[in-house]
Amino acid sequence: MAKEVIFKKQKTGLLFLAFLILTLLIIQLLFPLNHIEIFEIHFIDVDQGDAILLRDPGGYDILIDGGLPQQEQNYKLNRYLKSAGIRNLSAVFLTHPHLDHYGGLIQVLEEFPVFYFFTTGVESRAKSYLKFLEIIEYLGIDYRTVHRGDMIRIGEVIIDVLHPREEFLVGSLNNLSLVFEVELQGLKILLTGDIEGETEAELVRQNMLNRVDILKVAHHGSATSSNADFLKIVDPSVAVIQAGKNNIFHPAPEVIARLEDRDIQVFRTDKDGDVVFGWNGSKLYLLEGGISGFIRKLYKRAI
Ligand SMILES: [Zn+2]
Repeated sequence: MAKEVIFKKQKTGLLFLAFLILTLLIIQLLFPLNHIEIFEIHFIDVDQGDAILLRDPGGYDILIDGGLPQQEQNYKLNRYLKSAGIRNLSAVFLTHPHLDHYGGLIQVLEEFPVFYFFTTGVESRAKSYLKFLEIIEYLGIDYRTVHRGDMIRIGEVIIDVLHPREEFLVGSLNNLSLVFEVELQGLKILLTGDIEGETEAELVRQNMLNRVDILKVAHHGSATSSNADFLKIVDPSVAVIQAGKNNIFHPAPEVIARLEDRDIQVFRTDKDGDVVFGWNGSKLYLLEGGISGFIRKLYKRAI
């Protein structure tokens, strides 16, 4: 059985969003599919750094960022993917070229076939990043840059890229992180990389944001992100912070307070370990997850 990946490249105009579709690709994927029953959203505890896995019941697995190089973590991310029965990844997204986001992806690429790699194209001169790009090229992975206005469909997963804008790709790497809204049959998730207050404010000003169900809290819960105006619009039911256990800056207590003031349920990988949700099209569940065993039917509770 094969399903398609649809990639819509849209171009934004200089003065307003023109939404001109440049290309529309429909690509039949002829590879073995990884089977699960419901949508799964995994915020994997990789200590410092982000690693988010989206699983589509149609057999598409998408990884967003991969934490630091995995040697220190006893190859946690690779072991996690294997224990979930994953044999290949339909797509890997990199939000921005900082080591706590791409470092662990190097080992992922060494072990798992990856069909598409999406990022912004923002450059970094870090040697390890250049090596990472070389590996992508060597493996022949389909490398694509995406920006505001682009939409990608992978199985039932719809990814709407909100940031950065293609014509403004210079500045702080954090603030140039990919920001995208993911929709899984009615469930909305906002993924924010490491953006800070300036980018949040720009997204608010440009009216780019919608209310979502799950928010990946920006920049590991740093105090310079997750401002009140931004949270008011995004207004998630659940927020997840990915932060290292011994990081004294992340998450900032004031960010936790801002989230709790809005009655948002907060999960954090430094305390809760792997945080895994299941979505069956109408209900969101907190799942028993983690590397020790994927007992997917054992729902901890509905949210
Ligand atoms: Zn980071």
